[in-house]
Amino acid sequence: MRVINLASGSKGNCSVIQTQVGTIMLDCGLNIKDLLQRLSQANIAPESVDAIVITHEHNDHIKGLERFSKKYGAGVWANAEAWPMIDKVIMVAPQKKRVFYDKPFMVGGVKITPFPVSHDSVNCQGFSFEYKNAKFSYATDLGFVSGENLSHLLGSKLIFIESNHDEQMLKDNPNYPIYLKARIKSSKGHLSNTQCAEAVVYLAKNGTRYFALSHLSENNNTPELAFSVVANALENEGFRLEKDAFIRLTYQHKIGNNFNLKED
Ligand SMILES: [Zn+2]
Ligand SMILES: [Zn+2]
Repeated sequence: MRVINLASGSKGNCSVIQTQVGTIMLDCGLNIKDLLQRLSQANIAPESVDAIVITHEHNDHIKGLERFSKKYGAGVWANAEAWPMIDKVIMVAPQKKRVFYDKPFMVGGVKITPFPVSHDSVNCQGFSFEYKNAKFSYATDLGFVSGENLSHLLGSKLIFIESNHDEQMLKDNPNYPIYLKARIKSSKGHLSNTQCAEAVVYLAKNGTRYFALSHLSENNNTPELAFSVVANALENEGFRLEKDAFIRLTYQHKIGNNFNLKED
């Protein structure tokens, strides 16, 4: 299973999961020009995308969906709560719409398990993607990591997990109004570096080795800070970086690492 992030952050999110049997796009939050450019950089033909799976209706996750789904053949999966919200802002052809519920569904041989995460959208989802013995999980746009969320993330070989903000940078940011700071910090907002680190340590102790820090704020975080908070938390628990735990970053303005997960 190949996993690659094309963009991550409040200005746009998109990842791609590929197996021998198909290509799945996870969120479609880049404008069509950037999306096509980054697909090409990642060596993925847009025609090869079999399905697009949507976490939630916020603009940074669906920005390119109307144009991409109009031009290419992929079916678009979202849950029953998200569709009416998506329909308010963009057009997706009715014949391309697919609905998933709170149970696993199959797309081209890949088992996709959705799970609700706490966020200020109607019913934001995290996902696990399983193909043979490879499991990749995705959790961004969540105010806290619930026990149920952790149970879905367990057993993953790779996890994209939100590391949105540094608490102090958010607190000190003079350009963010109080209501916005409160929204980000709330249980329906975004994960801080510390919250992310706590989840990463738990998951590393349970066998996950690869983590890609995601949805980093460009205003209330830095890649170095996010990395160091998670790295320190792991090292404090005795993990050796690049030996038993691997931290990678995702980026807003460029594609991320190419991950190849063993399927056997
Ligand atoms: Zn988002
Ligand atoms: Zn969101």
